[in-house]
Amino acid sequence: MEKCYICEKGKLENKKVPYSVHGELVGEFPAQVCVACGETFFSEENSKKITEVTKAKGLFGLGARTKIGEAGSTLDIRLPQKIIQFLKLKKGEEVMLYPESRHRLVVEI
Ligand SMILES: [Zn+2]
Repeated sequence: MEKCYICEKGKLENKKVPYSVHGELVGEFPAQVCVACGETFFSEENSKKITEVTKAKGLFGLGARTKIGEAGSTLDIRLPQKIIQFLKLKKGEEVMLYPESRHRLVVEI
């Protein structure tokens, strides 16, 4: 059996592992999992398959850069179309904002 590429101690077991993106399950895929540190390794072939399924489910590339704008005395953040569609957001809808840390803002729908 191969040893883990990260901790170099644990042995790698073949397993099917669940893979999620943005909190949604993409599916279960074959991987090698380290029995010591729990690190998961997907083969190149399976990585490609995961990307394909993620794209097919509309979960690919939802992260986006945006700039903070100004609206009167407050600041606003424009949401890209792909995020609006994924979250099914509508104008006038009320959301909850709170900082999760000094570097992370959460918008709850
Ligand atoms: Zn390991």
